Amino acid sequence: MPKHFVLPHQEWPFRHAEVFATENGTRCLKEPGAIVIGQTATNLDNVDEFLRDFDFEEYLEDPTLLPHGEALAKFGGQICYMSLGKQRSTNADAPKYIGHIMESGHGSVIEHASASVLIYGISRSLTHELVRHRAGTAFSQLSQRYVSGRLLRFVERPEYQDDPTLHAKFERWIDLSAKEYDERAQHLLAMQEGGSEMMTAERKTDMRKKVNQAARSCLPNETETIMVFTGNVRAWRHIFEMRASEGAEVEIRRLIFLCFELLREVWPILTQDYEVVLLSDGTKAVQTKYRKV
Ligand SMILES: Cc1cc2nc3c(=O)[nH]c(=O)nc-3n(C[C@H](O)[C@H](O)[C@H](O)COP(=O)(O)OP(=O)(O)OC[C@H]3O[C@@H](n4cnc5c(N)ncnc54)[C@H](O)[C@@H]3O)c2cc1C
Repeated sequence: MPKHFVLPHQEWPFRHAEVFATENGTRCLKEPGAIVIGQTATNLDNVDEFLRDFDFEEYLEDPTLLPHGEALAKFGGQICYMSLGKQRSTNADAPKYIGHIMESGHGSVIEHASASVLIYGISRSLTHELVRHRAGTAFSQLSQRYVSGRLLRFVERPEYQDDPTLHAKFERWIDLSAKEYDERAQHLLAMQEGGSEMMTAERKTDMRKKVNQAARSCLPNETETIMVFTGNVRAWRHIFEMRASEGAEVEIRRLIFLCFELLREVWPILTQDYEVVLLSDGTKAVQTKYRKV
């Protein structure tokens, strides 16, 4: 456990999503689940000797402890000017110091801290949009080629959930889709067993992949996907601003707003400038005057 500078514990926020099933047993979700599973740890204990050589050792004696991400971003920023001595911004000044970084747009120092979230209960159409964010992000998404239909689940759009007609159509469609997937997979397996050239492969896993990759073509955008998503703070902030915003599609807005709520606990100062706004459709978005730092 670090002795200096950082808070002794980290927040690990999460929100689970309930899983439902149609009468035929097709499983589905109505909202995303998100679990923070990774975040930056900062430990400045071993920096003491380095600091002593410049007579900056009191830097670590700061009585105010910061969250890990904030401690790292602040230290990174202060290294740039070696402003680690008596005149430095102390940890009590961290909100002002980080506020200045946001205001001046010197966002590279907030790239040091990152967080990873396990996300589920989201549709393939949502992740098609999310993976467009290239800078400072990493994605590990369920493969529909390796993972068979046994684990299929679907996601009901927010607009459908309280409308009896659309809800019934959704349930009918996912039952049909799951059944159709299964029938196609069975047929493709039979082709494989019959020696079809297109369906053969040397390894057993490649054989199964050939079935799954062909059968999945009947699956709708409502098919659930699961992902581990990592972003550094700068990337997350950009995504909050682009996707937890009025212009964003409602399903991705709901997910990214949830991620914002969870990560605000991890990075209370790095997200201090965001305001939550209630939109006319009842969903929430975030706003800041410091966009794209
Ligand atoms: C409401 C909405 C509607 C959209 N509609 C469409 C659509 O109809 N069709 C469509 O194709 N896409 C659409 N998009 C996706 C959009 O065009 C972007 O691809 C997506 O939002 C990723 O954002 P970004 O480009 O800022 O990239 P990120 O990867 O999130 O990068 C963050 C920032 O880093 C910088 N950066 C990243 N990569 C580069 C680079 N290679 N060169 C220079 N600078 C870089 C840029 O400043 C960029 O803004 C939409 C997005 C939103 C939010």
